[in-house]
Parts: sequence; C-alpha cells; structure tokens
Amino acid sequence: MPGRSSSSSTGFISFSGVESALSSLKNFQSCINSGMDAASNVALDLVESQTEVSSEYSMDKAMIEFVMLDRELNHYIKAVQSAINHVKEERPEKIPNLKLLVEKKFVALQSKNSDADFQNNERFVQFKQQLRELKKQYGLQADRETDGLEGMDEDMIVTQSQTNFICPITQLEMKKPVKNKVCGHTYEDEAIVRMIESKNKRKKKTCCPKIGCSHTDVKMSDLVQDEALRRAIENHNKKRNRHSE
Ligand SMILES: [Zn+2]
Repeated sequence: MPGRSSSSSTGFISFSGVESALSSLKNFQSCINSGMDAASNVALDLVESQTEVSSEYSMDKAMIEFVMLDRELNHYIKAVQSAINHVKEERPEKIPNLKLLVEKKFVALQSKNSDADFQNNERFVQFKQQLRELKKQYGLQADRETDGLEGMDEDMIVTQSQTNFICPITQLEMKKPVKNKVCGHTYEDEAIVRMIESKNKRKKKTCCPKIGCSHTDVKMSDLVQDEALRRAIENHNKKRNRHSE
C-alpha cells in the first residue's frame, strides 16, 4: 500500500500497487464466503445429528463474525476505491496522503454500521432460514416419535412431505432443489434453469410452474440452493433404504 511516499514531479500517479492490493482483498472476500458456507454446513450437520444446542450456537456466532468481517472488508474496499477516484478526479499537483484519505472514508462507512446489515447479507439470511427449516423438519419428527398417534398421522406427514420432494416440472423427486426467493416454490435446479433459458430465447418471461402460483416472472437470480430440503430428501431416502433392507 502506498502511504505518503513517491510523489512524482511528472504529475503521473501510479495506482498499480493499490489496485493489486485491492484485488487481493477481493480474494480474501471469497475466502470469507467459503468460510460462511462451511460454517453453515457444519451448523446444519449439527442439527441433523441432534448435537447439543450450545455447539450450534457457536456456529451462529461464527456466522455473525463472518458477516462483520465481510462488512469491514467491503467498507475497506469502498474506501480505497473512493480515495483513488477522488485523486483521479481532483488531479492534485502533489499526491495526497492516501492512507489518511482511506482511513477517513473507512471510519465514515463503519460509523453507519447497524444490525440491519445482517438482514442484507444474503448468505447469513439463507443460513438462518435453512437452519429454521431443518429444525422444523426435525421438530416434526420428534413430535411424531413421542406422541402415541403414529399410524395415520405418520402416513399423512410422510405423504405431505413427499409431495414437497417432487419437482413441479419433472414430476420427479428432486436431487438438487432450488428455491424461488419470490414465491417460495422449489424446483429441480436443472429443470428450472432449462425452462428459463428456453423462455429467454423466445424473449418470454417464465411463469412459476407450481400449480396455483401466480408468480409470472421467475428469474435465475431469484433461485437459491435449498440445502435444508436437499438434506431432507436425502435423509428420507436413507431411511427408506434402511427399511427395505
Ligand atoms: Zn411459485
């Protein structure tokens, strides 16, 4: 990072050093993303294996720390970029104190931090949602095992959950379900992508293929992996195979 060094008499300021530093910061950002994916998977595993809540809670804390790290990094990148732009626009005679400029902008950005930032972090929101859904699935199971009303009740629940395993496009059990953030319906990843692509080619919007859904503009960017459902299907099949052995 260039500090107060190298002001040149020719008026030419090189940002190559800053720019390479910026790109390594962006690399770091993808590390944060994989860290979040890992923590999220561990948390889901913990729910599945019914491990104590305290260890799951620590995954929650890990996710919060990742979000804060991510926010700080974003602010830093923004601060550096705006400092560069500032210098490029003003074209000062002497190179200003970049470090100070970046610091000032960084502090200004950090002062606007709020809890709402967590709601804006897509990975974090998704993590919370999947955790909730997976717990619900296991909660359902726990209730079923403890109350004496197995039989019919169980059949009903199984049929109900199995219909959720079926893709409305392929009518087959999903292998890699994706959820539409807008209407909440799930589809087989490959099938919905193919559908959107073929509609796109004809310059048409894609209606949600789930019967009864009024959503008429399914976008690729609205689709998120439904990890909780994928696990539910996988577990269901594992159990079924165990029964048939
Ligand atoms: Zn829908």
